[in-house]
Amino acid sequence: MYIVQIASECAPVIKAGGLGDVVYGLSRELEIRENCVEIILPMYDCMRYDQIWGMHEAYRDLWVPWYGGAIHCSVFCGWVHGRLCFFIQPHSGDNFFNRGCYYGCLDDYMRFAFFSKAAMEFLHKSNKRPDIIHCHDWQTGLIPVMLYEMYKWHGMWNQRVCYTIHNFKHQGVAGADALWGTGLNNDAYYYNYDRLLDNFNPTAINFMKAGIVYSNYVNTVSPHHAWEARYENEGCGLGHTLNMHHYKFGGILNGIDYNIWNPEVDHLIPFNYGIENFKDKILNKKALRERLLLRESDKPLIAYIGRLDQQKGVHLVHHAIYYALSRGAQFVMLGSATEPSINNWFWHEKGFLNNNPDVHLEIGFNEELAHLIYAGADMIIVPSNYEPCGLTQMIGLKYGTVPIVRGVGGLVNTVFDRDHDKLHPPEERNGYVFFQTDNRALESAMDRAIGLWEQYPDEFRKLALQGMNYDYSWNNPGQKYQEIYEYIRHR
Ligand code: ADP
Repeated sequence: MYIVQIASECAPVIKAGGLGDVVYGLSRELEIRENCVEIILPMYDCMRYDQIWGMHEAYRDLWVPWYGGAIHCSVFCGWVHGRLCFFIQPHSGDNFFNRGCYYGCLDDYMRFAFFSKAAMEFLHKSNKRPDIIHCHDWQTGLIPVMLYEMYKWHGMWNQRVCYTIHNFKHQGVAGADALWGTGLNNDAYYYNYDRLLDNFNPTAINFMKAGIVYSNYVNTVSPHHAWEARYENEGCGLGHTLNMHHYKFGGILNGIDYNIWNPEVDHLIPFNYGIENFKDKILNKKALRERLLLRESDKPLIAYIGRLDQQKGVHLVHHAIYYALSRGAQFVMLGSATEPSINNWFWHEKGFLNNNPDVHLEIGFNEELAHLIYAGADMIIVPSNYEPCGLTQMIGLKYGTVPIVRGVGGLVNTVFDRDHDKLHPPEERNGYVFFQTDNRALESAMDRAIGLWEQYPDEFRKLALQGMNYDYSWNNPGQKYQEIYEYIRHR
């Protein structure tokens, strides 16, 4: 099959979170399965140009219709670790992608409405006719609308759309101006509850709802989160829309790219190890301590890696630092916050704990350090308020770093409590799970993990090895996406 991925991120060239990892990892897996895959991305000024090989101009004068006029764009093309990527660069005073950031601008909905329009125009003008267009998150929600309401009449009648929702919280709720820009001008038609009208705001359209209504298949990134989105509040107001379209909605667990996240071959860690030589993991713990100036001692090392955001349960991350210290453990945190209040909070904590030899708080984004932490830590906490899939627990499992997670979303599908899981026999359990959002719940799980590490090190080692045995590669999800593509392609 010929598949085009259209997204706002692709790791490692553009990565703000898990979306980037998924776009890259899934594309790679689909190519291994003998599909032809291309990726269309915005050309941000701040992306990592050093991760693109053979960059050249692929389409010089792409004029993208916009508000009755047209914006002149160039399309560049290059290889990102073997994946063929097209980058759209508009030349206009709006400077849509020259903002020094990926997201967080007041006109984000206009930036990505334009990107979606430009991506469709590029496919159309360059005569690309993929079997499947795979769109991701709210940023590309208007693409299936444009395909079925406009481009279908210009020769793109055979294309099918798979739409993946990575985070229901950000939906792209906007005014009619975004629609007018793209040429979807018929307000009365689109401002309809069955089409693009936001479920709660009668004066706004909703990009994500558009993606759900118009796509041939919709999925979120784990089976449990798909259930939560329909039957609990996790759909953030889209539950009813998902119920209306339940026949084409499901959950597919994300995978991990084991070429990148694998302690046996990881070139960003000083000592490679696997199940056979698991004892070498401790050499990475030593290296991590040296790098972060933590004292050498016979203590467990607990880590947190991730965005510092309400979604991730920052109040519990904060509590975990002090609880770990009170239990005599060490703690390493690597995270970045876009919300100023959270950022200031953790900078304050960092200043306060600066001279403590048992804790290190690294605020910022650091891919290399993340690898060393996964390899060096004994346990990793993921206390999320909600978690569509979660990659850090799966990476932790691969590195023999025992996850301590809150039982929500994809965490339920990947981590099975050593002491209390009812569905898996003891030899298939791989971590610790708690359910409530209060400090006590987190403490109870950390307490059990630290207790096992201290009192029954062989049992702890066994638990870590059981985690390493799980296969959370792209193999299974790749197969599932392929089946879905085949299914919608023939409808
Ligand atoms: P989300 O997509 O909600 O941010 P995921 O758990 O799905 O969370 O994916 C997070 C990914 O981003 C993981 O690969 C993790 O290692 C990486 N990551 C998150 N924060 C940082 C950071 N500050 N530095 C380096 N890598 C990070």
